Amino acid sequence: MNDPTTPSPLERLIDQILDEMRLTADYTGLDGLSEKTLTALRKVPREDFVPENERRLAFANHPLPIGHAQTISQPYIVALMTELLALTPQSRVLEIGTGSGYQTAMLAELAGEVYSIEVIKELAETARERLQRMGYHNVHVRHGDGHAGWPEAAPFDAIIVTAAADEIPPALVDQLKPEGRLVIPVGPPWYTQYLRLIRRTPDGDTDDAPVLPVAFVPLVREET
Ligand code: SAH
Repeated sequence: MNDPTTPSPLERLIDQILDEMRLTADYTGLDGLSEKTLTALRKVPREDFVPENERRLAFANHPLPIGHAQTISQPYIVALMTELLALTPQSRVLEIGTGSGYQTAMLAELAGEVYSIEVIKELAETARERLQRMGYHNVHVRHGDGHAGWPEAAPFDAIIVTAAADEIPPALVDQLKPEGRLVIPVGPPWYTQYLRLIRRTPDGDTDDAPVLPVAFVPLVREET
């Protein structure tokens, strides 16, 4: 029987995410999450995005393997990156690195249209089918290399990259609307990477702020 005094695994995870937001507030400038991000975290069933044999860890605040040497990002990082994008129901969003599709579903809860590119064909296909089956009809998944962005669907209000780039791909900055936001981990594979928030100013210039040291899988160039 459910004990009403014991928080569910999901609520425990949300408490841990909020603790980590407070601990990193000096870096990120955010000491909590908006109601809409919290609602999306409660709504998207994370357990449906992790492999069967990892399900009991679906609500641990860790990255988890999803095959092909890739990972589903740590829930705190997903929450932080989502919050940094400042999405509205009108936002058009580009994601590079669909992976399991979990972050994609979070974006689809908060934005108008989501375009997501994944370089590993099998992951792209699995995520596309999963998101369709779950009823996310505002998501478009493409197999390919995200360095070039998605010019036919540009410009975007927000762009999120979920793999670490050596440097910021210029095409992504070009595809941002004025006042648009790009959240991207930048740095060499397996060494110090920094999550960065790039904002396009109304006159077309960019602001670039380091947010937090992070560890992401590399953004690669070969399609598989
Ligand atoms: N957001 C995903 C996690 C991704 S791990 C999730 O939470 O499940 C990073 C993903 O980026 C991997 O699936 C990897 O294959 C993909 N990736 C790496 N380089 C890429 C590129 N150049 N273009 C598109 N996707 C890329």
